[in-house]
Amino acid sequence: MIENRVDGTLDAMATLEPKRKSIAGAPRVVGITGPPGAGKSTFVNLIIKEARGRGERVVVLAVDPSSPFTGGAILADRIRMEEHALDEGVFIRSLSSRGHLGGLSRAVGQVVDLVDSAGWDLIIVETVGVGQSELAVCEIADTAVVILTPESGDAVQAMKAGLLEIADLFVVNKSDRAGADILIRELELAVELDEESRWRPPVVKASALSGEGVSEVVCEIIRHGDWCEGEGRQEWADRQGRGRVRTFLDLVGEDARFAAYCSLQSERSDIKEALESGNSNPYRLAAEYKS
Ligand code: GDP
Repeated sequence: MIENRVDGTLDAMATLEPKRKSIAGAPRVVGITGPPGAGKSTFVNLIIKEARGRGERVVVLAVDPSSPFTGGAILADRIRMEEHALDEGVFIRSLSSRGHLGGLSRAVGQVVDLVDSAGWDLIIVETVGVGQSELAVCEIADTAVVILTPESGDAVQAMKAGLLEIADLFVVNKSDRAGADILIRELELAVELDEESRWRPPVVKASALSGEGVSEVVCEIIRHGDWCEGEGRQEWADRQGRGRVRTFLDLVGEDARFAAYCSLQSERSDIKEALESGNSNPYRLAAEYKS
């Protein structure tokens, strides 16, 4: 229904109870992005294995914004994830943009909210590429992991795309190849210069092929999750709040009546406050507003 924008979706979504309102018992959303061939699906596989080992139930949403059709890359991902295909504790779903590039991050956000309500423990959102729409998808995540390789172009280029703002963890994969150390140094320097954030994104040197750094990647994802629950709780809550406001504006923002509604009732700040604090569900509010 979400993907096909079926009438009645909003009303159905408004009945859900998202668990991410509070962090206790909430599913973690881990975003994994990087250029094609960087090693994303290899790491997704390893993260699934680790989470299953702890008895967690895992959803993988594989998103390919660059292709309106479900392309070969995602098909390959599915084949590589086949070892989990018979595991009832793992749900893998590809999402394609269906020609609506702008609507993709909205659809992904809604699907994340949907599986969240269904009580899964870990939600992995995997996107291909490091362009703006992929970064928007990563904003949905609690922990955004950016996987780069020595051949994925210079780090400066990557930073221009806004990677620094969204990445909670950098992985330099294929470190068995030449140029890895230069990329790591560039990223470390950039991360040190960025004084805005209280969380300094670690840069992990890895080789999914040899296994080097792989467990460190998993550890850093868990460490970031712990940080979100502890010291970084406010930043995590702020990020969640911004996400709810974005969802609400996505749902009603195209509606010209919304502007009129805001100016007439000057209630927007109330709505914003309710969304930011988590006292309100964006779907319910949007459904109420639209009715
Ligand atoms: P994705 O497109 O980002 O999902 O990348 P994949 O996980 O499919 O990996 C792409 C290819 O790179 C596969 O053939 C992997 O076997 C290979 N690969 C993954 N990690 C490494 C690594 O650390 N070193 C080398 N040399 N190859 C790797």
